[in-house]
Amino acid sequence: MNDFNYKKSLGQNFLQDKNILENIVKCANITDNALTIEIGPGSGNLTKEIAKVSKQVLCYEIDERLEMVLDDSLKEYHNINIIFADFLKRDINSDISKYEYDNLYLVANLPYYITTPIIEKIIATNLPFKKIVIMIQKEVGERFNAKPGMKEYNSLTVYLNYYFNLKKEFIVSRNCFIPKPNVDSIVISLEKKKDLLALKSIDKFNKLLKDSFKFKRKTIKNNLKNYDLTKVEEILTKYNFNLNTRAEEIPLEVFVELANNLN
Ligand code: SAM
Repeated sequence: MNDFNYKKSLGQNFLQDKNILENIVKCANITDNALTIEIGPGSGNLTKEIAKVSKQVLCYEIDERLEMVLDDSLKEYHNINIIFADFLKRDINSDISKYEYDNLYLVANLPYYITTPIIEKIIATNLPFKKIVIMIQKEVGERFNAKPGMKEYNSLTVYLNYYFNLKKEFIVSRNCFIPKPNVDSIVISLEKKKDLLALKSIDKFNKLLKDSFKFKRKTIKNNLKNYDLTKVEEILTKYNFNLNTRAEEIPLEVFVELANNLN
């Protein structure tokens, strides 16, 4: 890797610390006969640790220049398949239909520039992941875990918490990567909630969230001015909020009720 020209535009910061790599994989508690998906194997350092415990590993790497590096670094492992393609453009359901497995996992040190689209895609595929363990930028991790009333609380926080129980696992210093990024990282794990709140339409819910948080300093009355504000007020009042409340104060169950009752 000495003469490898790292591409910042592809989020290429490779994790060097073997203990941390092992600890990331441990968070997933991968069981027997598992298939684990990794996005962005890079030079294969995390992939190796996954392949030691997961019967099968399927990776997506956008940068074809890494093919030779990966061929070499992973040559001892025969349970890894790498697709050189943009994860965001692949039909994941079709890719994994060729595999037989008992449990499905996702473990990845994500390319940070596309954290949100990757997570939206993971949700949209609706695959039955037993556990998802991802390393992301620390500030983004704080947002995912934020509670109503905190300034980090946003539409993705609500969307993610609708689907998953989230856990902060541990922080990773920027010094553990080559090249060294400008930010620290955090490993978080996500497990799908067993009893999801009933939603009439996921698309409506998503749109309502995006609209509610559109202008951060504005109240619900301003951000939702194209909705039936009488209905919005009626629901908010039930929960001791009003039209002057800001989206960042409103909890998940209220957004679900709003989405289910607005056109
Ligand atoms: N797994 C390695 C590690 O832990 O050190 C590398 C992680 S690095 C943060 C992110 C990796 O994602 C890079 O190898 C990058 O080339 C790859 N990548 C970036 N965009 C991608 C995309 N759209 N689809 C698949 N891989 C992508």
